Amino acid sequence: MNATANYLLNILRSNFSRLPGPNKITYILTSRCNLRCKSCSIWKKPPREELSVAEIDQIFSQLPSLNWLDLTGGEITLRSDLLEVLGAIIEASPYLRILHLTSNGQKPNTLIEAIRFCKNQQINPIVSISIDGPEALHDEIRGKSGAFESAVRTYRQIRNDPDLNVSISCTLSVHNLDSVDLLLKELQGRLAEFSHDEIHFNLFHESNHFYGNTGHETLSRADFAQIQEQLYKAENGHLIKRMLEHRYRKASRDYFLYGRHGLKCQSLSSTCFLDSDGTLYPCTIYDRPLGNLRDYHYDCRPLWNDQHTMALRDEIMQSNCPGCCSPCETYPAIVSSLLIPGTTRRRSPTNQTRSG
Ligand code: SF4
Ligand code: SF4
Repeated sequence: MNATANYLLNILRSNFSRLPGPNKITYILTSRCNLRCKSCSIWKKPPREELSVAEIDQIFSQLPSLNWLDLTGGEITLRSDLLEVLGAIIEASPYLRILHLTSNGQKPNTLIEAIRFCKNQQINPIVSISIDGPEALHDEIRGKSGAFESAVRTYRQIRNDPDLNVSISCTLSVHNLDSVDLLLKELQGRLAEFSHDEIHFNLFHESNHFYGNTGHETLSRADFAQIQEQLYKAENGHLIKRMLEHRYRKASRDYFLYGRHGLKCQSLSSTCFLDSDGTLYPCTIYDRPLGNLRDYHYDCRPLWNDQHTMALRDEIMQSNCPGCCSPCETYPAIVSSLLIPGTTRRRSPTNQTRSG
């Protein structure tokens, strides 16, 4: 069976049941970052012992059904052994169908080298370059002058590769919600034939264990109409992209109205989150560590199947978690709710301010 068939089979299974192991993981390669964002404190975290290439190899060798991997940070290009890490993961993952690399675009050469390396290994990665506002605002949010120019230059260098699915990722927050139109205008001025298909909008979320940004001012229900308008702009491009963006917009609407996106969350059912030091969590948002893979011979299956994890999964299914509409978590929920939509409990309509 090839990777696509295996992925489709796992999507089908995840519509009806819990998988015997995660087929989608979000993995923070490093918490180190070369930017100093206002709305993310990951760069303030004390250094941790990152998983080595040998440890990563052991973990992924014991995840044979992995179909989808989001590699994020911090900033992934700060790993000096990035190519070895990618090589170990690709070698160990015969059914890897989606490899998503996110970057702030400050180290173009390292990123391009990583992309070429993946392509040589027969994996065409999906690449997201994060840009959160027009030039002056982006640099202010990122805490570095010139950050916007570097990110746009990096994006320009990779966007013409027909084998790649490359996009700009913009996180909507209280800082930039009023500035998206100016961002689009500046991108049009800098990128030949720039179209709205090329931008994907995320929603700002709080997360203690991931971004270390709890207590930050969040988007509220009052911002709902403006958010929907911006998300609507991303509903462009080919049919599948349009369908996914449409469902994401609908999920975000339900999230703001009811506190839940109404889809069956896949956390601990087919997805989980791996921190740079080997700690496993349900997702990027819910700060409930399951354990560290270093204490489990780098095998996530004992943790995935233990009673504590199953109880946590039940809690999540009862909507006893913070709730979110993070794309990392919502896209798996979208594809796993194609046949049986909407199974998590919604809350009553609320005017409370929600993280978003
Ligand atoms: S938001 Fe991204 S670029 Fe900014 S500090 Fe956090 S990890 Fe770095
Ligand atoms: S709905 Fe809850 S468990 Fe699921 S991804 Fe969001 S915060 Fe995590």
